[in-house]
Amino acid sequence: MDFSLNDEQKMMVDAVRRFIADELKPLENGIEDTGTLDKRTAQAIHEKSKALGLYALNMPADLGGGGLSKLDRILCEEQFGHTSDYLVRRAFGNVYEPLLECKGDQLERWLKPAITGQRTCAIAITEPGAGSDAQGIKTHAKKTDAGWVLNGSKHFISDGLWSDFFLVSAKTGDKAISMFMVDKGLPGFTVGKDQKMMGLRGTPHVELFFDNVPLEPAALLGEEGQGFKLAMGALNVVRLAQVGARAVGKASHVLELMVSYASERQQFNSKIGDFQMVQQMLADSVIEVNAARWMVYQAAWMLDQGLDAREQIAMVKVHAAETLGRVVDRAVQVFGGMGFCKELPIERYYRDARIYRIFDGTSEIHRTVIAKSVMKKGAALFDVNR
Ligand SMILES: Cc1cc2nc3c(=O)[nH]c(=O)nc-3n(C[C@H](O)[C@H](O)[C@H](O)COP(=O)(O)OP(=O)(O)OC[C@H]3O[C@@H](n4cnc5c(N)ncnc54)[C@H](O)[C@@H]3O)c2cc1C
Repeated sequence: MDFSLNDEQKMMVDAVRRFIADELKPLENGIEDTGTLDKRTAQAIHEKSKALGLYALNMPADLGGGGLSKLDRILCEEQFGHTSDYLVRRAFGNVYEPLLECKGDQLERWLKPAITGQRTCAIAITEPGAGSDAQGIKTHAKKTDAGWVLNGSKHFISDGLWSDFFLVSAKTGDKAISMFMVDKGLPGFTVGKDQKMMGLRGTPHVELFFDNVPLEPAALLGEEGQGFKLAMGALNVVRLAQVGARAVGKASHVLELMVSYASERQQFNSKIGDFQMVQQMLADSVIEVNAARWMVYQAAWMLDQGLDAREQIAMVKVHAAETLGRVVDRAVQVFGGMGFCKELPIERYYRDARIYRIFDGTSEIHRTVIAKSVMKKGAALFDVNR
């Protein structure tokens, strides 16, 4: 068992870390203040990141992506956690794995432009009446001679204002669900309001409405009726990367700030880091972040070996998200009043962390998955020695 990173991995992590520190960190406060980023700056960071080969790292190299292994991607995603969601989307892209099902003409129309960053995509599964129960959607597509007609609505769709097209789940039978690529601008397709959130400032989360939207046959992604399986399978790695690894990155960034504040801030003629109750908050955070990080790496390694990592990713989702929540909560405490004050970013990290336990499957849903698996397959499922 080798836990070390090779030289290439260290260089790659270093390149991402430096890009974030030099190009993205200086933009964070402006986005927090204004809630947006002008198009020219967004384009500039996109171009710079692309020139360094940092755009669409998760996509195959022969299609223009980074071609990284799952583990290498995870190492980069952990660094992405050090900055805001919005800047990550603009600089490094957000090409969802289900798009790899594109075939024939679909490659040129949807997949490749997403990989080069010419077109941005979002994923639209959740509806006002169907969140955790993603199979309970009402949006439906009816087959016609010309293709399909789409009706229904979605909400909370991240990056919807920036996106040129959407991966939309829709019922194509009583129980069957299919995925469609739906271009913005099609007749009957409207983007509704930007639903204001507690955190993730800058990233728009929108409603979508489909009123008899005509879709050509090529809009169907993958096989008819296989959309749920396709989305759930491919989104597993998204969950590991964008939630698990980023939560670890965010928690370690907050931990760094906490440690340096505890080493500098003086009360009662001592550094506050000399007080045992503060030390406990630091120690617990270090232990939990370290555990979460190795869980993330192990799940990525399993995917690279072609192993089924569904249960591991469910565990990562719960543990990394909840670790982040505990670490930022302790950070607010260690920073005292300054932790609550908007002059420092700690309160922003606290707000941003809360969603990790909710999106991409709530902690409750993932605990249910883990419990069902362990009841069915036995505790040996999680014992690497068996
Ligand atoms: C900021 C943000 C960004 C998002 N981005 C996207 C996006 O880009 N695309 C997209 O499609 N969706 C997106 N979502 C939606 C997100 O995935 C859902 O909010 C999430 O799946 C939970 O669904 P819900 O909000 O409807 O909650 P509900 O499903 O209504 O859950 C409410 C509560 O009930 C609990 N619960 C539900 N069922 C069970 C059960 N069987 N057992 C135990 N407890 C249960 C939940 O755990 C939760 O505590 C986003 C949401 C937010 C807030």
